[in-house]
Amino acid sequence: MQLQQQSYERIIENLYGGLYFVDLSRTITYWNKAAEQISGFSSEEVVGRRCADNILTHVDAEGCSLCNGDCPLAATMRDGCRRETTVYLHHKAGHRVPVSVRASPLYDDNGNISGGIELFIDDSQRVVSETRIKELEKLALMDKLTSLANRAYIDHELAGRLGEFREVGLPFGVLFMDIDHFKNFNDRHGHDAGDQVLKFVAGTLISNSRPFDLYGRWGGEEFIGILRNVDQTALVQIAERLRMLVQNAYLIHSGEKLSVTISIGATLVQKGDTVESLIQRADKLLYTSKRTGRNRVSLTETGN
Ligand code: GH3
Ligand code: MG
Ligand code: MG
Repeated sequence: MQLQQQSYERIIENLYGGLYFVDLSRTITYWNKAAEQISGFSSEEVVGRRCADNILTHVDAEGCSLCNGDCPLAATMRDGCRRETTVYLHHKAGHRVPVSVRASPLYDDNGNISGGIELFIDDSQRVVSETRIKELEKLALMDKLTSLANRAYIDHELAGRLGEFREVGLPFGVLFMDIDHFKNFNDRHGHDAGDQVLKFVAGTLISNSRPFDLYGRWGGEEFIGILRNVDQTALVQIAERLRMLVQNAYLIHSGEKLSVTISIGATLVQKGDTVESLIQRADKLLYTSKRTGRNRVSLTETGN
């Protein structure tokens, strides 16, 4: 079957995955509809610019920037080998989105590499989260600014998880997160920019959550995560990843790149816990993170 050029263009434009082309200088030359949906950037905003120019600015799972070093697309354009990996891209709204990327080389008529193609699939629980947001909205259990669960819902969820723990021994962990020096941030950049930060921190939590976990806004610039079926190692891994992703998330405000860090207290449920004792322990650990330098995770020595 022979497809006409126009048919190819239509197929590419409407692919489920995000797709873009770059030339050898890594200037973006094409950007499809799904790329717009996943990243929040329109084709007009990115075509003609380099992806390292505050556009996608991928980071890997350790938070290392890939733009000036190990960019999979750049490596593919150097050696012609296809690559597949998971990275975290910068969404226009600020938060980090996990995506699976596949990089392939593009060749000119003489068989020389002339650029690269990257296909990326959204790995976040966006669809699940959107359904949950609608449910929460109906029940007045949602925080309006961030679209996360509100304090009443967190309380309810914690009570439910504690019941499960008592009855069938299902473990869970709690993360207490607080933005560092947020008062200074508001003072320097204004309350509106502060609100946008609260949104992108929330977006980073939601985009990177597992389907059965819950993230909520406890109040002000404080967030809580309730993570089901985790042990100490998994809890720390998740907390460290969120800390790193928030550190690497940013907002462009009046031409300036603005970001924040969070401190985290992490604890596993223990025998005899109540909602209050759990929150208190997590809050104390958060305070330890603040006292010992901020932008870090502190956790209880043992859990059972
Ligand atoms: P620390 O690192 O010790 O947490 O310092 P901090 O400045 O973040 O802590 P502090 O509790 O002194 O200040 C919290 C600030 O959070 C005060 C307030 O301006 C800001 N804040 C709370 N809720 C909101 C909100 O809804 N929007 C905005 N923009 N700021 C908020
Ligand atoms: Mg606070
Ligand atoms: Mg704070």
